[in-house]
Amino acid sequence: MSKIPFSEKTYDVVIIGGGGSGLRASLEIAKSGLDVAVISKVFPTRSHTVAAQGGITCAIASADPNDDWRWHMFDTVKGSDYIGDQDAIEYMCSEGPETVFELEHMGLPFSRFENGRIYQRPFGGQSKEFGEGGQAARTCAAADRTGHALLHTLYQANLKAGTNFLNEWFAVDLIEGKSGCIAGVSCFDMETGEVSIIKTQAVVLATGGAGQVYEQNTTSLICTGDGLGMVLRKNFALQDMEMWQFHPTGLYGNGSLMTEGCRGEGGYLINSEGERFMPTYAPKAKDLASRDVVSRCIVQEIMAGRGCGDKKDHVLLKIDHLGAEAIMKKLPEIREISMTFANVDPINEPIPVVPTCHYMMGGIPTNINGQVITQENGKDRVVDGLYSIGEAANVSVHGANRLGGNSLLDLVVFGRSAGKHINKQFKKGEVSDISNAEIEKSLSTLQTLEDTKKGETVYALRSEMQSIMQNYFGVYRNEKLIKEGIKKLEDVNVRTKNLHMNDKSKQFNSEKVEILEYLNLIEIANATAYSALERKESRGAHAREDYPERDDANWLCHSLFFKDGNKVSKRDVNLNPKEVEAFKPKARVY
Ligand SMILES: Cc1cc2nc3c(=O)[nH]c(=O)nc-3n(C[C@H](O)[C@H](O)[C@H](O)COP(=O)(O)OP(=O)(O)OC[C@H]3O[C@@H](n4cnc5c(N)ncnc54)[C@H](O)[C@@H]3O)c2cc1C
Repeated sequence: MSKIPFSEKTYDVVIIGGGGSGLRASLEIAKSGLDVAVISKVFPTRSHTVAAQGGITCAIASADPNDDWRWHMFDTVKGSDYIGDQDAIEYMCSEGPETVFELEHMGLPFSRFENGRIYQRPFGGQSKEFGEGGQAARTCAAADRTGHALLHTLYQANLKAGTNFLNEWFAVDLIEGKSGCIAGVSCFDMETGEVSIIKTQAVVLATGGAGQVYEQNTTSLICTGDGLGMVLRKNFALQDMEMWQFHPTGLYGNGSLMTEGCRGEGGYLINSEGERFMPTYAPKAKDLASRDVVSRCIVQEIMAGRGCGDKKDHVLLKIDHLGAEAIMKKLPEIREISMTFANVDPINEPIPVVPTCHYMMGGIPTNINGQVITQENGKDRVVDGLYSIGEAANVSVHGANRLGGNSLLDLVVFGRSAGKHINKQFKKGEVSDISNAEIEKSLSTLQTLEDTKKGETVYALRSEMQSIMQNYFGVYRNEKLIKEGIKKLEDVNVRTKNLHMNDKSKQFNSEKVEILEYLNLIEIANATAYSALERKESRGAHAREDYPERDDANWLCHSLFFKDGNKVSKRDVNLNPKEVEAFKPKARVY
């Protein structure tokens, strides 16, 4: 029995997450008159979206008047290594221009071309004419701080529209209503520790990625996949969790991102011999091949003994030839970060970089309206009252590998579509009832933590998990390595049962928050491990040394992971776009 006191609140819609996706959805809903609340464990403008640098990819045809969303769609399908859902990719690429212009009209301060149109830069994996017409420039940018501009613009628009904000509140678990749909969420105010049960008609999980599952990552400390943990604890499915993007250019020793925009603007990678190596591996796209490809090439250079530095364990990103003026205008943050954290001024010297965990392609499966899908007896089922958008979701537009700039687009396109669907689906004030038993269930973890007397600290368990993920589930994988990793994770899982919360205080209890985040991360580590073991092929970010080829006969499909019994099953990829013919799998060369 839970002895935890709580108060109750009611909103028509609750969005967990104040990043780009959450704020785009809340804006759509607030404007329709429904009572919507955004819960965020940090002040919304501190969400990870604020760190997005390079830009938002979209065929708005400013760099090239002939650009076509179908070319963008082709690039995205190819980039996904053919397991992106083509209905969703078509929707994102064709709706994209309208959502970008909406942002511009809200006041997003994009960089500009001389003629006044929105600036677009070349990014990895972008082509013209379905791969036949050379490199495209399709990423709309506000210098190298596009996410910052986007998030602040959306936050201000939400203030104007009357969205309710519960800032520095932590959401713990989902609550089922009497009718079987999701009808609430348990959470607490981090400042006071006071617990609330929020009743609602729809919960939107916009909780972002989980890069913190790896030791070396480019993401914020808050990227702990909390929404995914909530979904797993309900035994709903997660999709494609073996697919983690390693960004080729994380700052060596620190992990901060050096945007792909550096290479988009003309920078390139060199090895210890000073040789530009990407043209050997990808003669056409060179340094702008897609991220999975470039990351693997860097690892191969390092393994061949051509890494840089004393340990020969990284390569260099050269941008000095672009000139001081271009660097200060187009890549000012990059210069500042590398001067602060690597003591290197890129105007004079190359930047040390290494592949670093950057993005979670997998996530909570949804349809294009953001409705969460799970499977029962091998059949898809919509989970009523539950939505997911942004990096937490898997709609799936990125498949086995995301192209740069496509995440920010994903946030606003599907944030908006989920908002529109919710506006149609729900009427003001019709909140359904939830039972006391369900409320108790949603508070059980908090109660367990209050009751612990002694045991393991979260800090030790968390760093052990991160190191296992880094060493056994990195850029290259094989069965032996994965099985060893799983064994080590099993041990960590056992020790997790004995976790102890030392600090029982209420106000700003950061140990409690870190434990709850860790309990989500370890679920995600398990999902990744078992899904990686199951997928016996190499596709996109999932590179198996023991199965080096892509296997379309058996694996042109999604993987689904369920917490019960660590089960992994397969789900069909959607190959039914509406307007264009589906793109058929081809060998993926850049
Ligand atoms: C350094 C970096 C640079 C990037 N650059 C680009 C780029 O140039 N272009 C591009 O397209 N993509 C880029 N990406 C990827 C992209 O920025 C992210 O995928 C995207 O911003 C995620 O947005 P989101 O709305 O899903 O979630 P986030 O912005 O991560 O926000 C998550 C929200 O959920 C809240 N939350 C989470 N758990 C809880 C909980 N338990 N209780 C309450 N609140 C919770 C958080 O407080 C936060 O508000 C970059 C990513 C990184 C890390």
